[in-house]
Amino acid sequence: MRVAVINYDFCKPDKCNLECITFCPINRSGSKAIELSDLVKGKPIIYEETCIGCGICIKKCPFEAIDIVNLPDEYGEDVIHRYKINGFKLFGIVTPKRGYIIGILGKNSTGKSTILRILSGELIPNFGDPQAKLTTDEVLDHFKGKEIYDYFYQLYNKKIRVAHKIQYVEYAAKYLKGTVNELLKRADQRGKIDEVRELLNMKSFWEKDVRYLSGGELQKLLIAATLLKDADIYLFDEPSSYLDIRERINMAYGIRELTKNKYVLVVEHDLIVLDYLADLVNIIYGKSSVYGRVSKTYSNRVGINNFLRGYLPAENVKIRQEEIKFNLKDLTDLDFNPQALQKVIWTDITKKLESFYLEVKGGYAREGEVIGIVGPNGIGKTTFMRILVGEIKPDSGEVLTEGLTLSYKPQKIVPDYDGTVQQYLENVRKDILSSSSWFYEEVIKRLNLHRILESYVKDLSGGELQKLYIAATLSREADIYVLDEPSSYLDVEERYIVAKAIKRVTRERKSVTFMVDHDLALHDYIADRIMVFSGAPGFYGIGKTPQTLSSGMNEFLKELRITFRRDMDTGRPRVNKPGSYLDRLQKETGEYYSL
Ligand code: ADP
Ligand code: SF4
Ligand code: SF4
Repeated sequence: MRVAVINYDFCKPDKCNLECITFCPINRSGSKAIELSDLVKGKPIIYEETCIGCGICIKKCPFEAIDIVNLPDEYGEDVIHRYKINGFKLFGIVTPKRGYIIGILGKNSTGKSTILRILSGELIPNFGDPQAKLTTDEVLDHFKGKEIYDYFYQLYNKKIRVAHKIQYVEYAAKYLKGTVNELLKRADQRGKIDEVRELLNMKSFWEKDVRYLSGGELQKLLIAATLLKDADIYLFDEPSSYLDIRERINMAYGIRELTKNKYVLVVEHDLIVLDYLADLVNIIYGKSSVYGRVSKTYSNRVGINNFLRGYLPAENVKIRQEEIKFNLKDLTDLDFNPQALQKVIWTDITKKLESFYLEVKGGYAREGEVIGIVGPNGIGKTTFMRILVGEIKPDSGEVLTEGLTLSYKPQKIVPDYDGTVQQYLENVRKDILSSSSWFYEEVIKRLNLHRILESYVKDLSGGELQKLYIAATLSREADIYVLDEPSSYLDVEERYIVAKAIKRVTRERKSVTFMVDHDLALHDYIADRIMVFSGAPGFYGIGKTPQTLSSGMNEFLKELRITFRRDMDTGRPRVNKPGSYLDRLQKETGEYYSL
């Protein structure tokens, strides 16, 4: 079977010679595989039944608007939804199980949010026919005899109630009015408002108006409101965005505690959080914006490992060309040279900014080194970076290296540019889109930025904007790169593409990168040393001197009272369940982070 997708934003019949139609061999032989249609405002549609998938139209289209994939015939039985003619197609659905938290893991734009919308009843599936407006009875007929039938029967007959936390928290904020306390009092159908406030640590912004909440506070508000609903199924779309590590673990614990014996589904890209939170995992694989298919249900450990390996044994499907490995063997060509020159050197530093006091211990960073920075929000990490490059003068102490150049990606990403993606990138670096460079192949293309060159920056999604700004930051020649939360809005694969690019740029240009991020698996993957920031967010922060990955992580986790072990098969870090045998043992021996 075939899935033919046309990106109608890219397709411009008035600017091309209709090559897709003229060169199609089926059309030339007198049949019809592709033609202009009023159904899509005079643009072409492809008939998947007659198209032979030769791919000629894909190559001929000057705007790369067409994508066609040939799939095994058995996929046809699993079609669940298609929003538009020649649009993205979803195969398969996740079956919720009472008493289990199911994690949904996969690339962006492969249908994860669609699945949640179908399971919440917000979207009625059409089984591949975008023009069909099915009734719920027709949907039930379709699922008759399948395991999922009972679930939809209860849902459509209002025997189960749904609570859904959507992905983009900024979006919800527009519709909310009042303080956190007022909003949650109204939402509290379970009489658990005090418990939720404690579990999610919300006291500090309890009386704040929703208009003034930070991203992390807004995220907690929406998670709290979802948990307070008296529902049977709880759906969480990316609950960890904007939260720091302590908050992520609290969130995961809070969800586990308050959803016992319920149906729970969570879409999550932070593997450590997903691993800690989920009992079972469904992987969604496919081609972004073209098709997505739901895997069989795996135990969380096996599912995450299969995902990292890029191979699903039960399906016998390769979902990615290469494995994502944690033992750094895939980066050996970029091994760090411990003899490298010290490039950035600073003494003990102090700085007072209104009511915030920052103290940083003296240290250095060597040529080609990636320093991972960990610590809560509002603890002074960005302030330290600004001191390093001379933007702010410290009250005491100094940076001993002068005249260093900086390339910086801030935490908050705003689309404040008027032109297209191509104009933006070429403004930063003229030859950035030259197709012969590794940067074009490994960064621009793998992040799919080459597909959106003509889009306007202000129209990009959060993930696209993040990728654009990271690529632009890394393309500049600089002594110091600072990437503040590069992982927000990115899926797991994009995180590792970005991580590899960071490492390569830093090594090859003999620069120094400071990477601030709350995804610990990412630090584990590329950081050569770790700098730990601790203190009381918003009041005072202490930055320790950079130390080895293991001692830095150990110190950081000790403070959080969390222990990590290694997965035997993949080497990925895993959180021990609090109070488990390993958790107790590792705390006793002081090994919070095992190598
Ligand atoms: P992080 O990057 O770790 O989030 P920041 O350096 O941005 O931390 O901020 C740390 C604290 O310093 C915050 O409480 C912030 O409000 C405060 N702060 C940062 N810059 C200034 C400034 N220019 N004036 C006053 N307070 C500031
Ligand atoms: Fe032209 Fe490409 Fe659209 Fe065909 S798909 S009409 S070739 S822009
Ligand atoms: Fe025609 Fe081949 Fe394109 Fe199908 S893939 S529409 S057969 S050119």
